[in-house]
Amino acid sequence: MPSHRTAAVISIGDELVLGQTLDTNTRWLASRLTDLGVRVVEHATVEDDAQRLAALFARLSAEVDLLLTTGGLGPTADDLTRTALAAFLNERLVTDEASLAEIRAWFEGRGRAMPETNSVQALRPESARSLTNPNGTAPGLLATDPRGVLIACMPGPPHEMKPMFEASVLPEIRPPDDRTIVTRVLHTFGYGESEVASRLGELMARTASPSVGTTASTGVVSVRIRHEGEGSCEDAELAVERMAETVRDKLGVAVFAEGSRTLEEMIVGVLRERRDTLAVVESCTGGMLGQTLTMVPGASDVFVGGWITYSNEQKTKLVGVSKETLEAHGAVSRQCCHEMAAGGLERSDADHCLAITGVAGPGGGTDEKPVGMVWIGLASRGMKPDIRCFRFKGPRDIVRLWSARTAMAMLRLRMINTTMKLLGEDADAR
Ligand code: ATP
Ligand code: MG
Repeated sequence: MPSHRTAAVISIGDELVLGQTLDTNTRWLASRLTDLGVRVVEHATVEDDAQRLAALFARLSAEVDLLLTTGGLGPTADDLTRTALAAFLNERLVTDEASLAEIRAWFEGRGRAMPETNSVQALRPESARSLTNPNGTAPGLLATDPRGVLIACMPGPPHEMKPMFEASVLPEIRPPDDRTIVTRVLHTFGYGESEVASRLGELMARTASPSVGTTASTGVVSVRIRHEGEGSCEDAELAVERMAETVRDKLGVAVFAEGSRTLEEMIVGVLRERRDTLAVVESCTGGMLGQTLTMVPGASDVFVGGWITYSNEQKTKLVGVSKETLEAHGAVSRQCCHEMAAGGLERSDADHCLAITGVAGPGGGTDEKPVGMVWIGLASRGMKPDIRCFRFKGPRDIVRLWSARTAMAMLRLRMINTTMKLLGEDADAR
């Protein structure tokens, strides 16, 4: 059987085209297909309209080997994927008895009888196959059109779509076997994208192989290494591995993780290895640092908690920042940041305490303390505190996220016994 060399992804729903819901399904599917070596040539987003969708099936099926859709499989009148697929295949809809039984069981498992409206979800074009949905009521659909194009329709909710793709659609996909694609991603923090690019130099030349590219997202600059071509998988992996080593050499301590690992996962991991604990004292980030760290499963092993000291009064009352300090230097100052970190360390009994105080904006800036000025402090048992001033650029949410991430980067540098000047750092601030 011929392989699936090219694919298109269609997302279906009024809420997507109207801009009410962000289409994350297409991005996820496209990246899964790319990993498999299937070339994604088009993304399409279409409203809940059976004719428009059937027309899209007709156009794209002439161009690609594989069509994936998400959405429009619900029980309501605006869920038209089944109808559109049947129209395109020129088939009638029949009830899939096994699906109907599954949908009934799904409701009964929740102590309810299946509403009659849900029986439409068991319909499928005659030649199509229903795909089981363990996480919801909408079964998926799998069909092959007369040209041999494989069409898989999955439900819209991401937590239903992803498991269905992995369990029922992936086994049907035949990636091209004459082409090897190997990718690796290294994540860095501390350099700007242009600094990373200049350090990588020639490696980023458009003609280089494996190819090396960068993407930046609020401080995290990711370096993507990609080999695509003929030849054996082992050779490709070796070439990518060698390139990853070269990239690591050039970027040094800035590289903090690989693959899907985030900054916060890395921090929790390193703290756990060292059996260290962390507390936080947050002003302008309002708890974002604690929130980010506690998104990581198992954070309770290393994160003890902290304080949101937004007002001057709370800085004094909760972690003991002195009134004199606040009067003489203000809340956004080296002295205040130092006292926040030291006060939090003392009161929490943790091994490290991170403190953040700054001007997130858009208001509140002065000539001396402009919007984006943020002090970040790290106090650790038996060590000299590390207090740094940053001048971040961008709107409030960026300044806050950048601050939380930079605090984690400072902690990491300390834990691996090294240091570097981080992006945005004002080394001359007193
Ligand atoms: P259901 O039985 O849940 O109605 P469905 O297949 O009809 O399944 P939709 O009604 O199209 O799915 O979408 C249900 C919800 O799934 C949407 O409200 C939205 O939150 C989410 N969703 C749908 N499409 C996408 C998408 N492309 N990206 C991210 N989320 C999506
Ligand atoms: Mg729906």
